Amino acid sequence: MNTRVAVVAVGGNSLIKDEKHKSVQDQYAAACESMHHIADMIQEGWNVVVTHGNGPQVGFILRRSELARHELHEVPLDACGADTQGAIGYMFQQALRNEFKRRGLKKEAATVVTQVLVDRADPAFQNPSKPIGSFMSQADARPKIEIEGWAMIEDAGRGWRRVVASPQPKQIVEVNAINSLIRESFVVISVGGGGIPVIENEEGDLVGVEAVIDKDYASSLLASSIGADLFLISTAVEKAALNYNKPDQKWLDRITLAEARQYQAEGHFAKGSMGPKIQAIIWFLERGGQQALLTNPENIGRALAGQTGTWIVP
Ligand code: ADP
Ligand code: MG
Repeated sequence: MNTRVAVVAVGGNSLIKDEKHKSVQDQYAAACESMHHIADMIQEGWNVVVTHGNGPQVGFILRRSELARHELHEVPLDACGADTQGAIGYMFQQALRNEFKRRGLKKEAATVVTQVLVDRADPAFQNPSKPIGSFMSQADARPKIEIEGWAMIEDAGRGWRRVVASPQPKQIVEVNAINSLIRESFVVISVGGGGIPVIENEEGDLVGVEAVIDKDYASSLLASSIGADLFLISTAVEKAALNYNKPDQKWLDRITLAEARQYQAEGHFAKGSMGPKIQAIIWFLERGGQQALLTNPENIGRALAGQTGTWIVP
């Protein structure tokens, strides 16, 4: 039996399938579908650590917080991160538990609220670039900038939007807890939304910051930190492609680290979507990782059997 460890980073499509299906019930239904595929993997003997995004869910919390401002305190971004890790972890834990019961598998899932250390001197803090929350008018944006000190940008006619820093993840704070759970053969859900970004202050205490860590980068760091045998990125496409969406599109089956670097440099992988995934995989392999796979949830089983997906190897 296979007892290797895989970090599986699930994409936004594992919770929100389309614009019309965003309610919590819809998200749970989507989570059940994705966890079904992950349970297949677990049944094959893989020890799995699931990581996930939280962009839309943080957006919902911020919007509620904004609408309720006259009555209730607003929610800081690090607390939004913790809230969504808990809520999404809950959905995954329940979906997995129900899958295990149906299959007669003696397995349990547990969520670790995960902090991720970033460097307070990270240049990203000087250049906030990640848009979050809703669009607003210039009149509404002004006090946010002047009184609350937000960085805001005007987004091509759609209005003003807050931007926060997207620093590099340096260390998974709860890595020992995650490792212990894996050793006890728990399925672990962690590093949700890229983790809650924290810095170390002058006294060496951790403090949450108003920033967002890329979930693919944080998942890659986690995979390296626990010495995972496989880093699997589950997203909305079966494979990565060269010349994506162009007439000469070419799906990639198996590429080397050197090829991944070359195609990345040639601009084949879009900046806000496939680019960070390939970068995350490059870093995992550079830190000694042995194999990475990119595919969509429904093809995880076939991809692990070598029949599809994009494999990236040293
Ligand atoms: P996730 O929520 O999983 O992070 P993203 O939307 O950020 O998903 O990234 C996945 C998307 O990247 C795919 O759905 C696809 O539209 C897009 N994409 C961009 N470039 C490529 C490429 N070269 N090959 C395949 N997909 C690509
Ligand atoms: Mg993404």
